[in-house]
Amino acid sequence: MTRRLRLAIPNKGRLVEPTVRLLRDAGLVFEAGERALVARVQNFDLDILFVRTNDVVEFVADGVAELGVTGLDLVAEAGSDVPQLRTLGFGRCRLTIAVPNDSPFRAPEDLAGLRVATSHMNLTKSFFASRSIPVDVIPVSGAAEVAPRLGLAEAIVDLVSTGSTMVANGLRPIEEVFDSEAVLLANSAALRDRADVLDTIQTMLSATLAARDRKYLMMNAPESRLAELEDLLPGLESPSIIPLAHKGMVAIHSVVEADAVWSLLPRLKTAGASGILILPIEKLVS
Ligand code: AMP
Repeated sequence: MTRRLRLAIPNKGRLVEPTVRLLRDAGLVFEAGERALVARVQNFDLDILFVRTNDVVEFVADGVAELGVTGLDLVAEAGSDVPQLRTLGFGRCRLTIAVPNDSPFRAPEDLAGLRVATSHMNLTKSFFASRSIPVDVIPVSGAAEVAPRLGLAEAIVDLVSTGSTMVANGLRPIEEVFDSEAVLLANSAALRDRADVLDTIQTMLSATLAARDRKYLMMNAPESRLAELEDLLPGLESPSIIPLAHKGMVAIHSVVEADAVWSLLPRLKTAGASGILILPIEKLVS
């Protein structure tokens, strides 16, 4: 008998909330207790393993879990060739070289012969090696941003999303080393042996992510203005046009980019649309 599928996700830190939200939005029902190591999904043949963000890659690569969610930076740092099914659109950050505000350094080359503190040893070493810049890479397990103040290093390589932590620590970025976001990983043997169920989960997550970025628009309009309105509504495919009981009027239904909705509304009204409804989409499979 094949065992229940396992998905390893972070148990702590900034990827937990968006990962759990994605799984719940996808319709998976489970309880994520504070200290639970495993959550049984009630409506799917799946167990969720809560592990350290750093351990997800190894769990999936070794087949302890068939699937995993972690940061692309950690996959690259581990130098792992574990298959990546797709990026997930959250946990976006950049691995960045930063120096104290009052330092004279402007470019990575200025750091030749100096010390760089980081918790991403491999990515940092390979970046400087690729530019043939000799630096002394100092390992820190976290809070690299305090290293310059402690006199441990002249520069750091650390993850930045908004940049406010760096600013608060009197640091300024000089170059980006790596772009990261959360990624869905799969074990390579499971991809071969349990392709169907892995594909189902991937479709489930992809449909949920695609739906988040889109809205369903419904409106009424005079048939005579249809061409004008259709031009405003590129949508996924052509809009649906439905005749209304009132002669000469139609209903238009269309899927549009969520970000575009607010700028679209006044233009739709000017083009004759009325009774405009904006609806959320639950899942979108294209
Ligand atoms: P954690 O240390 O458990 O909070 O998770 C760290 C992971 O979250 C990193 O490896 C990145 O993939 C991701 N991440 C996203 N934004 C940031 C950020 N601003 N700082 C650190 N990690 C981030």
